[in-house]
Amino acid sequence: MIIVMKQGAGKAALDDVKNRIKELGYKPHVIHGATRDVVGAVGDEKNKDVLQTLEILPGVDSVVPIQKPYKLASLEMQPEPSSFELAPGVAIGGDNFVVMAGPCSVESEPQIVEAAQKVKAAGATVLRGGAFKPRTSPYSFQGMEEDGLKLLDAARQATGLPIVTEVVNPRDVDLVYKYADVLQVGARNTQNFPLLRMLGQLDKPILLKRGMASTIQEFLMSAEYILSGGNRKVVLCERGIRTFETATRNTLDISAVPVLRQATHLPVVIDPSHSTGHSAYVPSMCYASMAAGADGLIVEVHPCPEEAHCDGAQSLNPQDFANMMAKLRRYADVAERTL
Ligand code: PEP
Ligand code: MN
Repeated sequence: MIIVMKQGAGKAALDDVKNRIKELGYKPHVIHGATRDVVGAVGDEKNKDVLQTLEILPGVDSVVPIQKPYKLASLEMQPEPSSFELAPGVAIGGDNFVVMAGPCSVESEPQIVEAAQKVKAAGATVLRGGAFKPRTSPYSFQGMEEDGLKLLDAARQATGLPIVTEVVNPRDVDLVYKYADVLQVGARNTQNFPLLRMLGQLDKPILLKRGMASTIQEFLMSAEYILSGGNRKVVLCERGIRTFETATRNTLDISAVPVLRQATHLPVVIDPSHSTGHSAYVPSMCYASMAAGADGLIVEVHPCPEEAHCDGAQSLNPQDFANMMAKLRRYADVAERTL
């Protein structure tokens, strides 16, 4: 349910509403709108009609049900796009188009520092790099774990770029939180509900990838797990879905961008690397993402893709990344985005 406050209703009235929501066994989520506040009351759907009684409280304008199964992620709850900082000075969700770039995995200090310097020079504002890698084969490189997180920190200190890195296992959330600016949930964990619930307790942004077999509604329900824990800083990432097509690693669902725009206020980014699986296809998908209205990209870039421990075939080399960024800047003029 959404409790819409009257324009000018004061803090006391808002506190009353929040307390009453809690007494009824629901959790209040306040959104301060441009002209008035609204309070989302989320919890057990079965008894939600009791919330209708809030209508008589002072300062309350109306109480309206949220039709969608995803409540806090919905545009009904918040019609304006969400905008927040991934790290100080790096906002997402407004005019800014955020490019996160770096290798699939952290491999060594020279590798991650060079990647960070090169992607920064080309205009990326966030460094990506996996320290915990969810690999299809248990015999593949699994990541450098905490040593990798330390190297990401070294790259951050060398360049000033904030870090996005994946947390695979709920048991590692505290550790990854210590090092990361943004915590990534990979496609294989989109429906790892215990993990999502833990991330809902954090005060750092979460980059949530779409599962390779998730519908858009299921994807938004996963985001809802994080939001309902109290963490509002969720970035959705379309990274390709499984289809019958084998020419690309996955099928980039570029139409997910306008579909999500009509469903949610959360920022949306595209991963052109895991979706296509081939570096040759990456630049055109970057341009398409901007044209489709995405808020940013997460792109794999390796100083020497031929030597990458994983995902070399889909990684751009620094020169190709710089060329892509130069052209993307020209598209940005038309799309009215700042890059
Ligand atoms: C990654 O970003 O390195 C990754 C493993 O991606 P995904 O979860 O989308 O497969
Ligand atoms: Mn990868």
